[in-house]
Amino acid sequence: MNESVQESRSIDHFFSAPSGRTDLWRDLHAAARSWASGTKNRRAVEAALTELGVSEEFHAFPGADLLAALRGLLQNDDANGFLSLAKRISIAIITGNYKHDAKEWQAADLSLAEPVDIVPASAADGVSRPYFEMLTVTPAPLGRWPHIAAEFRRLRRSEDAFVYEAVLVGSLEDAICAAVVNPDIAAVAIYEGFTLRSRHDAPVLRSVLAAQQPLLDQVDEADLALRLAAGLKAIRPELDIYLLSDRRVEKLAGDPRAAMVRRVMYQIEEPLELHLSVLEGIQARFETPFFDNLKRYAQRPIATFHALPIARGKSVFRSPWIRDMGQFYGINLFLAESSATTGGLDSLLEPTGNIKRAQEMAARAFGADHVFFVTNGTSTSNKMVLQALIAPGDIVILDRNCHKSHHYGLVLSGAQPFYVEAFPMVEFSMYGAVPLRTIKKALLDLKAEGRLDRVKMVDLTNCTFDGHIYNTRRVMEECLAIKPDLIFLWDEAWFGFARWSPFLRPRTGMGAAADIEAWAKTPEALAQHERQVAELGASPSLEKLLDTRLVPDPRAIRLRVYQTNSTHKSMSAIRQGSMVLVRDVEFHRVEAQFHEAVFTHASTSPNQQLIASLDVARRQMELEGYGLVMNAIEVALDIRREVNSHPVIAKYFSIVGADGMVPSEYRRSGFVDFLAPGTRWDDQLRSMREDEFCLDPTRMTLVCGTAGFDGTSFKGLLASQYNIQVNKTSRNSVLLQSNINNTRSDVALLISVLLKISESIETRLKQGGDSERKAFNAKVQSLMKDVPDLPNFSHFHETFRQDAGDTTPEGDIRSAFFGAYNEEQCEYVPIDSAECDRRLKDGPDMVSANFVIPYPPGFPIMVPGQVVTHETITFMRKLDVKEIHGYEKARGLKLLKVDRVGGKKSGGQETARKKTRAT
Ligand SMILES: *Cc1c(COP(=O)(O)O)cnc(C)c1O
Repeated sequence: MNESVQESRSIDHFFSAPSGRTDLWRDLHAAARSWASGTKNRRAVEAALTELGVSEEFHAFPGADLLAALRGLLQNDDANGFLSLAKRISIAIITGNYKHDAKEWQAADLSLAEPVDIVPASAADGVSRPYFEMLTVTPAPLGRWPHIAAEFRRLRRSEDAFVYEAVLVGSLEDAICAAVVNPDIAAVAIYEGFTLRSRHDAPVLRSVLAAQQPLLDQVDEADLALRLAAGLKAIRPELDIYLLSDRRVEKLAGDPRAAMVRRVMYQIEEPLELHLSVLEGIQARFETPFFDNLKRYAQRPIATFHALPIARGKSVFRSPWIRDMGQFYGINLFLAESSATTGGLDSLLEPTGNIKRAQEMAARAFGADHVFFVTNGTSTSNKMVLQALIAPGDIVILDRNCHKSHHYGLVLSGAQPFYVEAFPMVEFSMYGAVPLRTIKKALLDLKAEGRLDRVKMVDLTNCTFDGHIYNTRRVMEECLAIKPDLIFLWDEAWFGFARWSPFLRPRTGMGAAADIEAWAKTPEALAQHERQVAELGASPSLEKLLDTRLVPDPRAIRLRVYQTNSTHKSMSAIRQGSMVLVRDVEFHRVEAQFHEAVFTHASTSPNQQLIASLDVARRQMELEGYGLVMNAIEVALDIRREVNSHPVIAKYFSIVGADGMVPSEYRRSGFVDFLAPGTRWDDQLRSMREDEFCLDPTRMTLVCGTAGFDGTSFKGLLASQYNIQVNKTSRNSVLLQSNINNTRSDVALLISVLLKISESIETRLKQGGDSERKAFNAKVQSLMKDVPDLPNFSHFHETFRQDAGDTTPEGDIRSAFFGAYNEEQCEYVPIDSAECDRRLKDGPDMVSANFVIPYPPGFPIMVPGQVVTHETITFMRKLDVKEIHGYEKARGLKLLKVDRVGGKKSGGQETARKKTRAT
C-alpha cells in the first residue's frame, strides 16, 4: 500500500488496530479462496500478504514460523495448501482460539512441525488459563528470535496460573509500536543493548511514533533502556517492566527513574527467575483481595444469627412462594450475602483488611494516592467529597449545569455556590462546558472583592454528558496561578475508562495532576513562572490576565485533586459502584473530615456484591482495559463513519462532529472531526493535547430532529421496536455511547435499524405526496429551528446574598432551601397565569423555593433562592417535556415569600463569618 493511502485512513486505522488486523486477515483468506478456485491469480494473494505488513511482527500469533510456512506455500504455488492455512490462521485470530488451543500454532504440515505446547495442562476445572504476551526487547540477531521465544515456552509449568508467548523486537521504536498496537502485551522484558531505530521504515510505524516524538528526540543511547521504560509507562502505565542488564545492576536499580521498572536483573541470571517474576507480576494485578475472600467465604458452612435472612439463601430456596428468585439469581448470590464484617469480609466504613487492600490496588491502577469505594453511586461520592472539604460559607465555583448531587451537596454543606455558565449549544438545547476564561474571571472577580480566601473549590464535570472534555491540566494550572491551594473536584462519572487510553488519560483529573506534579519538579517550571511574572508586570489588567495562559508558581502550589467515577457507567461494576480518587497533598489534614463524610453518607449495610464488583472491575482494566477502551473508541468511529456516509441514513440522521460540538474558539488546533477528509490521527492527538475542549469520540450526539423525531420519542421508538437502548436525549437528538462491551455486531445492528427507519421515512414521503412532505418539513423546522433559548442562571435574591460580594454572584442556597420547609413562607404561581406575567413586570420578585429540573435537558433552570426571570419562564412555557422535577403543574411554581424569610440569618452564615474572622 502506498504511503498516502495509509495516511488517509489514519485515525480509524490507528484506533482500530486490532480489528483492522482481523480485516486484513479476512482479506487474505478471501484472496486465497479466489486463488484456489481459479477466479484470481496469485498476485492478489501476494498483495494481501504484503498488506499485513510489518505490524504482524508485533503479535506472537501466527508468528514467524507460520508466516514462513504461508510464504513457502505461496512460492510452491500450492493454492489449496495456502488456502487451508490462511483460513485456519485468520479464524484463529478472529476467534482468539490460539490463546488456548495449541494446535493453532502448528505449521501446515502437522507431521513435520515440532508441537508447540501452549497449554501444557488446562486448569483442574477445565477452564483454560488466561493468556497474555510478553514483549521482549533484545539486541540478539534476528535469527535467534525463534529460539528465544522457544526458550520461554520451555519454561512453562503445569502449575503456572497464566500462559504467555514472547513477542520479540529489536529496537525502541518497534517496542513502542508493539505496545501501542498489541493490547495482549501485559509485560515487557527489556534486554539492554537494543537499538533506537526500527529496521523497518513502514508508514504505520512512523504514524504511531509521531505521537512519541518527545521520547525520540532526546537521543542518548546509554540510557535507552530507562527511556524505553518511561515511554512504555507513559503509554500503558499498567505494564510490568523488567530490565535485564549485564552491568551495574545495583546502580541501575538505584536510579530514581528505575522506580517504574518492576525488577532489575542480571541478564545471565536464570531465565526461570524472569519467568516467575513475570507471572507474579500478572498475579499482582489479577488478585482481587475482597472478591477472592468473598468467594472463600461463600464456600464455608456458616450459621447466621444476624439480621439478614437472605444470607445463605435458606429463606428463599425453602419458600414455595419466592423460590424463583433463588433460581433466577443462583445460589452464590445468597451464599455471598452477609451483614458480617467478620470472616475476613472487612468493613467498608473502617477498612483494615482486604477492602483496604482492594482500595490500595485501585489507587495504583487509577493513578491516585487514595481510592474510596462507594456503594451508593457517584451521587454519594460527590456529596462525600463536598461535605469533607467544604464548610458553611465557603465559596465553590461550579457549573450550574452539573449533576444534581453537587447542588444538593452544597445545600448540605452550606457552601455558597458561585454558578458559572457553560457555553450554550442552542441548536441542540444543550450546554457544552465552562470556558476557562469564565472560571478565571470568577476567581479574579472574587479576588477583586477581597474574597479569594473564601473560595475553596472549583467543581466541574469531565467529560460532560455530551462528551466535552476539559483541558484539565490547563484549567488547574491557570486556576492555581490565581489561588495556589484551590481544590478541584472533577466529576468524571462517565469518564473512568479514560485512564486506559493514552490519549484521554492526560485529560482526566488524575492524569493532569500527575503531569502537573512532574512539571513542578522541573527547573524549567520556575523559570517559566518567573518569566511570566516579569512579563505581566506589577499590576496586569483583568483583560491581560484573562488573555494570558497563566503559569502557576511551582513552589507555591498545593495540588489538591479529587475525581469521582461511576465505575458502573464505564467499567464492569454493578450499578451504583463508584470510586472517589484522591491526589491531595493536604489529605492528612482532611482525612478525619473525609471519614466523617463517609459516615454521613454511606449505608452501614454496604452491598458485598458491589464492593466485589469494584474490585473485579479494577482487575479487568489493569489486565485488558487498554484493548477494551481502544475497541470502544473504534466502535464509536465505525458508527460515526457509517451514519455520516450512508447514502440513505445520512439524509435524515447525522452524528455531530467535533466541529459541531466544540465552537472553533475552543478548538484552536483547527481539528475538525475524527473522520473529516484529510484528518490524520496526529491531528486528533494535537487537539487532545492543546484544545480547550475536545470531544470524547465514544459519546455520539445523533441528530434525529432532521428525521422528524424529537429526542424523547426517538429514544422510545428505538427501545420499544428495536431493542436498542440509548443514553439521554435533547429536543432533537439522542446520545449514543459506546463502551467496553460493544462489538462490531452492535454497530451493524444500529446501522440496520437506522436504515430501516430512514427507508420508512422515504416511503412515507414518497407515498404521502405534497402534504406529507410539508408536514414533515414543518416538523423538522420546529425541532431544529424553533428551539427555545437556554436560560442562564439569573441571580440569587438579595435576601440570600447578605454575605456575598458586591459584584460577585454567589449566594446562600442553604437558607433558601430550608426556607421552603415552612409552608407559610411559600406561595405558588402557575407559569401560565396572568399573575406570573404581572409579577415579572411589576414585581415583587418571584424567588424559587426549590430546584426545578426538567428532563431533558436535566440541569436546574431554577435553584432555591434564585430570582425567576422572563428568560426562565419563556423557556418553561416552550418546554414540551413531561418530566420536570420540582414543579407541580397543578399548583405552579413554588416560590419563597422573601419578606417572611428575610428577617432571619442562617446559622451557617454566622458560623462562616466567625470562621473567616478567626482565620
Ligand atoms: C450519573 C452521574 C452522576 C451520578 O452517578 P451515579 O453513579 O448514578 O450515582 C454524577 N455526575 C454525573 C456527571 C453523572 O453523569
